[in-house]
Amino acid sequence: MSLLNGKNVLIFGVANDHSIAWGIAKEMHNEGATIALSYAAEILERRVKPLAESIGVTFVEECDVTSDDQIDQLFAKMEKEFGTLDILVHAIAFANREDLLGRYLDTSREGFRLAMDVSVYSFTALARASRPLMKPGGSMVTMTYYGSQKVIPRYNVMGVAKAALEATVRYLAADLGPEGIRVNALSAGPIRTLAAAGIPKFKQLHREFMQVAPLREGITPKDIGDAAVWISSDKASKITGEVLFIDSGYNILGLTVPTDSL
Ligand code: NAD
Repeated sequence: MSLLNGKNVLIFGVANDHSIAWGIAKEMHNEGATIALSYAAEILERRVKPLAESIGVTFVEECDVTSDDQIDQLFAKMEKEFGTLDILVHAIAFANREDLLGRYLDTSREGFRLAMDVSVYSFTALARASRPLMKPGGSMVTMTYYGSQKVIPRYNVMGVAKAALEATVRYLAADLGPEGIRVNALSAGPIRTLAAAGIPKFKQLHREFMQVAPLREGITPKDIGDAAVWISSDKASKITGEVLFIDSGYNILGLTVPTDSL
């Protein structure tokens, strides 16, 4: 019996075949879910449409999540075609590159506003739009990173945004819990994606991670997809408001130097 049989899933954040959102789409599809995809802008269409076709997805819609009108239009279409929604996946983040160089101290007001709007507020907006389509048993999932809790060099305003996103998860979980809707965040270890390419010296961060993470294993979009399947399934029906780490154990470390050098 597949874990997500009969569930309708709407996934935001597929940019290409390296995207975490795509890893989640594939695993949820494998578990019997019916998938709908949304991507940010027309320029991504030629990458996203063939991916969608490869798993038989026909609902593929553009939506810039900074636009309430575009969100409304997308959900109206979703309601018309699917009627109900069981799982919302939010795998979206953005910050200006200049705000990921140098110090957090120098973040501009506009850079802060933009990072918060795209990476944090959008989850609230999508949760609100999803709610009328969700029945008890619904699940909402977003993507976070450890830079929300500890200082990671150059993660800067994105770390502050992820802290706000994790707080958002708790407030939404409290609001929607009485309706039987669960809200959780998955905290992924570093994965080479388009968004990660925007983080200066990501390769070094990734190398260091591989040397010290307890499992010594890199994280893949499939790993996140597997966790997203489980947390959205009825097997996790009493879990809400949580941040679940999928990071080969990195977050438990107090000292991140290779132990063989001590
Ligand atoms: P990605 O670049 O494949 O995905 C980011 C997505 O955000 C893209 O599809 C992009 O089009 C979308 N996006 C940006 N602005 C948007 C807008 N205005 N409207 C709609 N969509 C918009 O990279 P990814 O690594 O798969 O990122 C997905 C999520 O995972 C992000 O929240 C990211 O912070 C998080 N995350 C990534 C890592 C990592 O190492 N890659 C680690 C932890 C968390």
